[in-house]
Amino acid sequence: MDRYAVFGNPIGHSKSPQIHRLFAQQTGQALSYEPLLAPLEDFAGAARAFFADGKGANVTVPFKEDAFRLADELTPRARRAGAVNTLMKLEDGALLGDNTDGAGLVRDLQQAGLKLAGLRILLLGAGGAVRGVLEPLLAERPAALVIANRSEDKAEQLVGEFGELGPLSACAFAALQGPFDLIVNGTSASLAGELPPLPAGLIQPGRGFCYDMMYGREATPFCHWAQQQGTARTRDGLGMLVEQAAESFQLWRGVRPDTASVLAELRRAL
Ligand code: NDP
Repeated sequence: MDRYAVFGNPIGHSKSPQIHRLFAQQTGQALSYEPLLAPLEDFAGAARAFFADGKGANVTVPFKEDAFRLADELTPRARRAGAVNTLMKLEDGALLGDNTDGAGLVRDLQQAGLKLAGLRILLLGAGGAVRGVLEPLLAERPAALVIANRSEDKAEQLVGEFGELGPLSACAFAALQGPFDLIVNGTSASLAGELPPLPAGLIQPGRGFCYDMMYGREATPFCHWAQQQGTARTRDGLGMLVEQAAESFQLWRGVRPDTASVLAELRRAL
């Protein structure tokens, strides 16, 4: 049976094993998928041991940059992101690194019925997750994509790196001027029950879409804020998680699983 895994530290909370087992059942693929705790100081050693017979792996916090360095070959989107969340062993034994996070976000937004072309988008944060979604978001041709981050120099740096791909700019939280059609929270503030310092007027009541990459049983602080602003729609990041997994599964197995049923099952189990 072909072996797959997800590496992280910690890893016990990961939903990837459940998602990939559901994909395998649904598509009739014979494979195993296990969570693997890699030591913080030796991701490369753990990954090499696994790939003695493993076929592919997902990589989560805090190893996405280690996986980027480990890969022998990179897809263009992984090279641009500077981070790898999917590894695949090629026929010749080389390791291919890909990054499916951004495609997962764009696909989940599209599943929600959103067309990104021509929209004014605000992206909060400038960490690994935001780095991974910039290229796929800009490829959808928004009218504007503004990054706001607590450490403003990091937002400026991303504009320097990705600005040639589309209408990208950076702005301090306090200087933000709405309204935006879509606000994506890519900060980890929600993890601590916090919210970036967002001024009023970013969303027109009854309009706009707010998306938090974080997810949970309860509405996240950002989704809660969005509802208070009167936004038309909010969505959390569970769909992004399932969509990035589907993208990895397709790379490994050449089959695209149905994500809606898996997302519904995961949501029920939260
Ligand atoms: P990083 O640690 O790389 O980046 C964290 C970002 O959040 C930085 O921009 C940081 O700002 C900002 N931040 C942290 N705390 C606060 C705060 N209290 N107020 C304002 N800004 C804050 O994390 P990642 O980019 O890897 O992950 C970000 C989020 O995205 C996490 O919640 C993660 O769970 C989620 N995620 C979801 C995925 C999914 O599939 N649904 C996939 C990947 C990530 P500063 O630079 O100033 O420190």
